[in-house]
Amino acid sequence: MPISFYEARQQILDSVPILAIEKVPLLDAVGRAIATDMVAEYSLPAFDNSAMDGYAVRVADCNAGVSLPVSGYLPAGETSSTSVEPGTVMRIMTGAPIPSGADAVIPFENCLEGQDQITIQQTVKKGDHIRWCGEDIRPGDQIISCGTPLRPAEISLLASFRHATVPVHLRARVAILATGDELQEVDELPFSGGIVNSNSPSLAAAVREIGAVPIILGIARDNLSSLREKIKQGLQADVLITSAGVSSGDRDLVREVLQEFGTREVFWKIKIKPGHPTAFSMCENTPVFSLPGNPVSTLLIFEEFVRPALLKMMGHRMVLKTLYQATLSESIKKKAGRLQILRVAIQIRQDGEMVVCSAGDQNTGILRTLVKAQGVALLAAERDFYAAGEKIAVHLFGPSTTLGY
Ligand code: AMP
Ligand code: MG
Repeated sequence: MPISFYEARQQILDSVPILAIEKVPLLDAVGRAIATDMVAEYSLPAFDNSAMDGYAVRVADCNAGVSLPVSGYLPAGETSSTSVEPGTVMRIMTGAPIPSGADAVIPFENCLEGQDQITIQQTVKKGDHIRWCGEDIRPGDQIISCGTPLRPAEISLLASFRHATVPVHLRARVAILATGDELQEVDELPFSGGIVNSNSPSLAAAVREIGAVPIILGIARDNLSSLREKIKQGLQADVLITSAGVSSGDRDLVREVLQEFGTREVFWKIKIKPGHPTAFSMCENTPVFSLPGNPVSTLLIFEEFVRPALLKMMGHRMVLKTLYQATLSESIKKKAGRLQILRVAIQIRQDGEMVVCSAGDQNTGILRTLVKAQGVALLAAERDFYAAGEKIAVHLFGPSTTLGY
């Protein structure tokens, strides 16, 4: 029995395992999910320091018009052994530790600089232009929670806390198998009736885009021995994705061969369009996605089902795309019964409103519409008509993730 879009996605997410953890150099962790909660071991800033180039002063001395001698110089990276005595100031650079005695910094531009003295021009408040120890982060604060993907901002934070290596989940190794007698590789001589295997490169690109590792197995032919050989190889990886050969045609043998290897089929067929014949199975701990062969279906099913699963396996806590409410600028007819993954063109109007329309011919055979689309709208299975002006939920293509599952 075909199941719903949402049931299928949930069953997949409930089935896939989370991969082991490794420690990697900080830069190799970008885009990957951190595998533990990170807690601050010390304060940030680690010491009181100057936020400006200027003079470290005692506020009590700073009445407008008063001149004060400069008693020393403090560049960043050095700690003063002397303090700012009453009635004096010290020249200080941004980032230098605040010397004892001082309780504010006056930037160069806010005072009159003389030979070996400055003249105060405006009132000064305690703490002016001082970055206090711990004002950003205190010891014991949780700085990054487990499962967060590391962006440059998190990398900055981890570096600030001297983490030269960080624990992340392994990158999923994803075997990609194209199947079909008609297929030929992109660099082979064309033959009559041949169809270029575009699914292997497109799936490999999608796998790589989210930080997983594609392993391209080539093409299995539509016979048992060829499929057996390739599927056996594919099951060595963390995940196997096959394309084509999963409908009800005479030569659609992928499911049969998977079953020979002892895989447990979790479901076959989803009430969606395109991508209806999709199957999902588990071979012990190895998820197997059997996608339909059509290049548009293949990529849309990857986007909606495989991508969240791979992210979960790689330890991401947020695996689903953000849904935006957008206004439909045209009416759309569909058949009731299946959820439609509609390829949409998206425009942000001057007033900020997000407006969407169909990106073009929605026939599964039309790859151009996928290329023109910036995202998809999920049109509810039970509906057969959407009116212009209605709000619909869309998500954008691309690697960002913000929602839980
Ligand atoms: P199937 O699922 O085997 O019925 O294939 C559906 C359609 O997708 C057929 O037109 C196939 O030729 C095409 N197709 C299957 N595999 C690929 C592939 N790897 N690259 C491009 N097109 C494919
Ligand atoms: Mg086929």
